[in-house]
Order: sequence, then structure tokens, then C-alpha cells
Amino acid sequence: MCFAPKKETPEMTTPTLERHAFQAETRELLDLMIHAIYSNKDIFLRELISNASDAIDKLQFEALTNPDLPKPAHAHILLIPDATARTLTIQDNGIGMSREDVVNLIGTIAKSGTKEFMNTLKESKNQHSIVSPELIGQFGVGFYSTFMVADKVTLETRKAGEEHGTRWESAGDGTYTIEALENQTAQSQLPSHGTRITLHLKPTDTEDGMHDYAQEWTLKGIVKKYSDFVSYPIEMDVTHTDYDRDADGKMVEGSAKTRIERETLNSMKAIWTRAESDVTEEEYKEFYKHISHDWNEPLSWFRMKMEGTFEAQSLLFIPEKAPQDLFYRDGKRGIHLYVKRVFIMDDCKELMPDYLRFVRGVVDSEDLNLNISREILQQNRQIRAIRKRLIKKVLGTLEEMAQHEPDKYLTFWGEFGKALKEGLYEDRDNQDSLLELVRLASTNSPTEMTTLKDYVARMKPEQDKIYFMTGEDRQIIEHSPHLEAFKAKGYEVLILTDPIDELWTQGVYQYKEKAFQSVGKGTVELGTDEEKKQAEQALEAKEKEYHSLLESIQSRLSEFVKEVRLSNRLTDSPACLVGNASDLSPQMEQMLKAMNQPVPVSKRILELNPNHPLTQKLQSAYASNPSDGGMSDYAYLLYGQALLAEGSPLPDPARLSKLMAEVLVKAL
Ligand code: ADP
Ligand code: MG
Repeated sequence: MCFAPKKETPEMTTPTLERHAFQAETRELLDLMIHAIYSNKDIFLRELISNASDAIDKLQFEALTNPDLPKPAHAHILLIPDATARTLTIQDNGIGMSREDVVNLIGTIAKSGTKEFMNTLKESKNQHSIVSPELIGQFGVGFYSTFMVADKVTLETRKAGEEHGTRWESAGDGTYTIEALENQTAQSQLPSHGTRITLHLKPTDTEDGMHDYAQEWTLKGIVKKYSDFVSYPIEMDVTHTDYDRDADGKMVEGSAKTRIERETLNSMKAIWTRAESDVTEEEYKEFYKHISHDWNEPLSWFRMKMEGTFEAQSLLFIPEKAPQDLFYRDGKRGIHLYVKRVFIMDDCKELMPDYLRFVRGVVDSEDLNLNISREILQQNRQIRAIRKRLIKKVLGTLEEMAQHEPDKYLTFWGEFGKALKEGLYEDRDNQDSLLELVRLASTNSPTEMTTLKDYVARMKPEQDKIYFMTGEDRQIIEHSPHLEAFKAKGYEVLILTDPIDELWTQGVYQYKEKAFQSVGKGTVELGTDEEKKQAEQALEAKEKEYHSLLESIQSRLSEFVKEVRLSNRLTDSPACLVGNASDLSPQMEQMLKAMNQPVPVSKRILELNPNHPLTQKLQSAYASNPSDGGMSDYAYLLYGQALLAEGSPLPDPARLSKLMAEVLVKAL
């Protein structure tokens, strides 16, 4: 590795300046940023400091495994205000960026979900003509917040291990320039690795929240407020004025001497090591924003001390809003891992299971090795033990929230319920606690969700199963023929419309010894033992009577269904389709198809309602003329309308509609 100045060749002394246009979305975002009525402009500094601190973190982490990289000597962040030039420079000696990094990270917004975000932002802007901080916060446009306070931003950076730097500059007007810093003069101000960002400040306008960011005391205040816990020193050359004193201790006129002293503006005290009572709510919130890159406040936070065979402390946060990337594979994950207050990594996935990926925070271990690598992490016993404790703590905290702050819990559930449901089948050890946390829609109320506990409390005395139906849409489920017998008996049915419901209901068999049962699968036996027996006997008698009709329909629909039978499931509808207990539901099949997964061909069972006039008429038509040519059409009509009733697609819609027209003509 070589940091020595490169021998200059003449053509390299004139660096090439290239002008680029921002990507359309970035331009729009910038425009909104500049014109947004976002009152708290001070936070731009928090964003830049957070980026600088991340960059130092990154270098330290990379340096652990890459011996070629420089170990940062005196890692720090430097603020350089210049009141005369009206600039503020923020400099770090972190990992820096290559030219490619600059183009990818600063010139474009490569984050997932940008389009969706822009649309929401524009909509809200049309409606209220202001951009709510929550919206910006959901996206966290960190670096771009500089354009709230600067009319020109210059970024110079040199990646650790690289020889040359890069300068990026923009007035936030739709274009930026980029140039290679290829000679010593151009690079003179750059640290050997790191980034230097100079803001050409807009005029001060205190009424508009635009403070004087070239003033030392303004900067001191902002750092103290938002970035006190940052674990690297944030330094600034502060001007002091001293006076000579006379014998009485009075200042001697005309003796003022200024002296410049470098000060560290932040305490750097790890917030999780301070006594709980010493940390204010504000400090927790700011710390959360720092580590999560979220501009919203956390919904809740909690600390935990682990002692015994190992020692660790943690401070965890539950966000208020789900990030845009919660369901993206490459979304930001993980807990920050520290070892004895030294930052190790910011995305320690091993500490939290996937279904709790929204939890943010810090774990600080006393016993792990500072040089711990990712490979070791995966097999580390202590990490596994910490993870186990963290899961229990998170679930316990959520349970407490559900009990004592039910409204807050519902907010949480609305944002993260879908992720939590993944835990029902991923984390068998905690399935019982997770089942207590689940909130589900049910036929009990059109708007309110229920706990399983409450469902069980409402069960009929003879009811021994928890009934549910999955589907895409509440209304379709509610009107589906499958629910008829349950409605008639007054049995409550859970209405499950999240795609994830298809998955967990396949893998979770019971809650408090009450089995889960899909109303769309298996046979239905409702009522007391006596009622069940009677219904069964009646059905058997009917089956005998209708035997040949059922066989005839079956032979005509063999392409679509594996069996045709009578059932007790229906009261009003003539027919419906059901699966065997082990079959995939039609929604699950569609999901697998959408994911390009192989879908096993599974035919379902067509059930007829023996008490419906249509079944009875079919029976008499069939009895009088078993070879009636219309039988195939009737069978298809029956099958088609069973599909329609449950909201499933038809294999041949044209055929069904033609048949319906013919039947109508005959009937009219
Ligand atoms: P975020 O920090 O949420 O990723 P930002 O807009 O604040 O979003 O920054 C975008 C990216 O630019 C960062 O993720 C980082 O890769 C890069 N970056 C910004 N500032 C620095 C810096 N001082 N040093 C190195 N990289 C930086
Ligand atoms: Mg940032």
C-alpha cells in the first residue's frame, strides 16, 4: 500500500471536470428538500456527523480484516466554521469514497422504494403544500439535507488505500460536477483517507429556522443536542479571549489576546453505560436517530443487562414506522455490536432473528474478542446466548405494551405485525409467546382485531377448534359459502388476508390445545356430539340417495375435481370447493405461482348442499333421464359458480358465461 505522492505527469495537472445531471428522482427529491418547509434545519449537521461517524466505523471494521488498510490514528470529526467566507466544513478521517462510490452514493439515490416514496411525498405536498418530517424521515435523505442550509456543497474525499481523491460539487440545481484530484495541490487539504464536505451557507434567517452555522456557539449547541453520544471526538478550533488582570483581579483594558484551542464538543459517553436515570428521553431519541438513520422517533426502548457466565449490556429500540425496505431482501438489518465500548459492526444479523429485523439498537459485550469476524460470530456460543435473551426481552416488552398500552401496541402491530407473523413458523421456541402477540381480524367485529385468547374465551361450549379462513379480501371471505354453516351456528371465524397467513397457518397447529382448522378444508362437524351424530347419519342417508348423481357429476368434472360429495357446510349456497386438510389453499397456489415456484397439481373436492333446491332438481332430472346431454353443462355451471363464490379465477370464463346465457334463455 502506498500513500506517497504520485509523480506528476503534465496531463494529470489539469484534472478533467465532468458535469452530470442528477437522476430525475434525485432532482425531484432535491427540489423538495430545498423548498420543503421543514422547520428544523439544524439536523443537517446531525446527518453529516452521523455519516462521518459511520465512515470511521467502516474503516475500523474493514481494517480488522484487511491489513493493507491504515488503522485510523486519532479517528475524529472536525468542524471548521469560517464566518468570513460563510462556509462550514465537516471533515472526517474515515473510509472515504472512491469516484465510483461518489457517483453511486451521492449522485444518485439508489435506495429501494425511491419511486414509491416520491409519489407519497408529492401527494402529500399537493394536499398540504408542506412536506411532513415523518415522510422525509421514513426515507432518511441524509446527505441531501445539506441543501436546506447551503446553496453550494463541495465534497472532497479519498478512499482509504487509494492514491487520488475526488471532488464533487453541486448547487442543488439538477446537476453536479465531478473531478479527479490528481495532484498534490488539489489534495493538500484532504486527509490521507476520509471526506471533507464544505457547505457554502445560505444567509441566516432565524425566523425560518436557518441559524448561523458559521458561528462556533451555534455549532456547539447543535452537537451537544444531537450528537453528544457519537463515539468519536467531534472537534473544533474554538477562539478564546484572555485578558491580563490587575492586582484586584480586574481586566486590564486593551490587554485582550485571542488564543485558539481545539476542543472536543461531545462527551462520547456510551449512552447504554450511563445510569438509566441519568439519560433523558431526548437523549434516547437522538441516539435512536443516530443509529437507525430514521428521522422518526422510536415507539419504545428498553435496556437490558446480562450477567452470569457472560456480561453484556444492550439498549434496544422499536421504531414507530416500518421502514420502506422492511420486506426487501437487501434492506438494512441488524443490531450494532460493540465490544467493551469499541464499535465492531453495525449490522450484526446474528443477534436478532429475521422476524425481529425491525428492532434497532446496541449490544455491548464485555467478553468477546475485539477481532471477532463474521464467520466466528455465526458459531459463537455467547452470541447465541445473547440472541436468545434479546428475543425473550423483545417479546416480553411487546407483551407488556399490549397489556398496558393497547393503542400503542396496535400501532406497532399495524407496522410490524406481518414481520412478527413470520416468527410463528420460524421460531418454534417462542411460538407460544408469539401467539399471544398476534392480532387478527375475525367475524366477531367488522373493525376490531382480536387476540387468540379472546377468541377462545368466546368459543361455544361444544366448539373445540379455532376456525379460520384465508383469502385476499375480507369481503370475499365473509360472503364465501364456506362460512355459511359457521354463521348459522354462531361460530366465530378468523379472517386472514395477509399472504403470510397462508404460511403460518400451515405450520402452527394449535393454541392452548385448541387446533387451528381452515373452514375451507376437510369435513365440517359442528355442534354437540349428539348433533354431530345426527347430521352424519342424515348425510349418509342422502349420500346413498344421491350416489349415482354424484358419480355422474364427478365423471364429467374429473379434469377439475377429485371428488364430488354432499356436505353440512352449506346452508344457502348450492356448492363450494374444499381441500383435504393437507392440500395447499388456492391462495397459496397463486402465491407460489407468482414466485415462480413449482406448484403441485392438487384437485379439490366439490361439495354439494343436499338441502338446496338446485341439488334436488338436478337429482330429479338425473333420475328421469340419466343420459341427459345437459348434465355436463350443469356440472360445469355448478363448478364455475363455486369458483366465483370464493373469488377464484375460472379456467374457462367464456364457457361459463355462454352456459349461463343458455340456461337463462331456457328459464325465461
Ligand atoms: P445514509 O447515511 O442513510 O446511507 P446519506 O444520504 O446520509 O444516507 O448518505 C449516503 C451514503 O453516502 C452513505 O450511505 C455513505 O455510503 C456515503 N457517505 C456519505 N457521507 C460519507 C462520508 N463522510 N464518508 C464516507 N461515505 C459517506
Ligand atoms: Mg446518513
